Amino acid sequence: MNAEREMAMSLEFKKIRSHVRLMNPFKGHALDEIPFEIRFDPLTGATGRVFDLPFKAEKPDVADIVDRSKKIFCPFCPAALEKSTPEFPKDLIPEGRIKVGDATLIPNLAPFEKHAGVAIFSLEHFIPMENLTPETMRDAFSACLLYLKRVAQSDPLVHFFSINWNYMPCAGSSIVHAHLQPNAGEVATNALREQIEGCRRYARENRRDFWQDFIEEEKRKNERYLKTIGSSVWAMSFVPASFLPDVQCVFPERLSLMELSKDDLEVFLEGLSRTLKHFLEENIYSFNVSIFSTKEEKSHRVNARICPRLFPRPIGNSDIAYPQMMHKESFTVRPPEAVREKLLQVFTP
Ligand SMILES: [Zn+2]
Repeated sequence: MNAEREMAMSLEFKKIRSHVRLMNPFKGHALDEIPFEIRFDPLTGATGRVFDLPFKAEKPDVADIVDRSKKIFCPFCPAALEKSTPEFPKDLIPEGRIKVGDATLIPNLAPFEKHAGVAIFSLEHFIPMENLTPETMRDAFSACLLYLKRVAQSDPLVHFFSINWNYMPCAGSSIVHAHLQPNAGEVATNALREQIEGCRRYARENRRDFWQDFIEEEKRKNERYLKTIGSSVWAMSFVPASFLPDVQCVFPERLSLMELSKDDLEVFLEGLSRTLKHFLEENIYSFNVSIFSTKEEKSHRVNARICPRLFPRPIGNSDIAYPQMMHKESFTVRPPEAVREKLLQVFTP
C-alpha cells in the first residue's frame, strides 16, 4: 500500500491501552497489573472493554434444559402448531403460514416490529447444536427471506429488516424448539441506525465506501480476518459485542436482504455452521445471530453478527450485566485476536 492510499483511507481500529493496579492475592499479594483495552468501533465509534483473562466456559447441562422444556407447553411442536399459533392475514400471506421444506413461518405472537415472524426450523422439538448444519438451517432461513421479500412488496413504508436468532434459553429464547425471528419495520433499531449513520458519515468525510475499506484493512492487518466464502467476508469483530468474542459476516456487494440469492444464503450458512463448530469446541451451547439490512440505503451493506452466549460461572449468572444493560458498553474477557487462530482452524478445514 502506497502512502497516498494510506492517506486516503481514514478507517481506524482505535484502541486505548490501560491497566488496573492491585495487590494480587494469587501472587502473594504482590503488586500486579491487569491490562485491558478500550476499543472504538471503526464504523459507529461505539466503545467496548477488552480484557485477556484466563476464562474457560464449562459445558452446560443441555439434556436438563431440554428435559425441563418438554415439561412445559411447546406451541411449535407438531401437535400444537396448527391450533396454537396465529396465521397471517390473507392480504399479506394468502396461504396463512409460509412453508419451506421442513420450516413453517408464522406471525410472532410476541411481536417486536410491525412485521414480525417466527420461522420454526422443523418438527423436531430440539435440534442439538452439533446438528445445526447448512442442511438443517436452510429451510428456516429461506422462509425468512421469502417472508421479508413479501412484506417489502406489500408494505412500502418498511425500510429496515433483520433476521434474528436466540438459540436456547441462555441466549434469551423462551422456547427451546429452534426458531428464527424475521422483522421488518419503519424505524431502525439502535444498532442498525448507528451502522447507517456510520456509513453515511464515512462516505461524507472520505468519499469512499466504508465496507470496501473495512475489508481491505482487515485483510491487510490480518489479525481478525477469517475467510471470504463466495459473496461473504468473515472476520472476528474488532469490538466484540459479547462476553467472549463474536464473529461478523459482511456481504460487501449486497445492499439489502431483498437481494440475497440462494447462493448468498448458502455461503452464509457455511460460515455460520463453522462458527458454531468453534463455539461447541469452547463449550458454548447458546448464541445470538442477527442479520442487519436496510431496504435501499446506498452506503449500507447486509451484515451479520454471531455472538456466543453463556453463563460465566456455575451459579448461572448472566453474561449480560450492568455494563451492557445500563452503560451500553460491551465487556469481553478474551481479545478477538487471541481466539482467531482457533476459528481459522474451523474456517480452513
Ligand atoms: Zn417443540
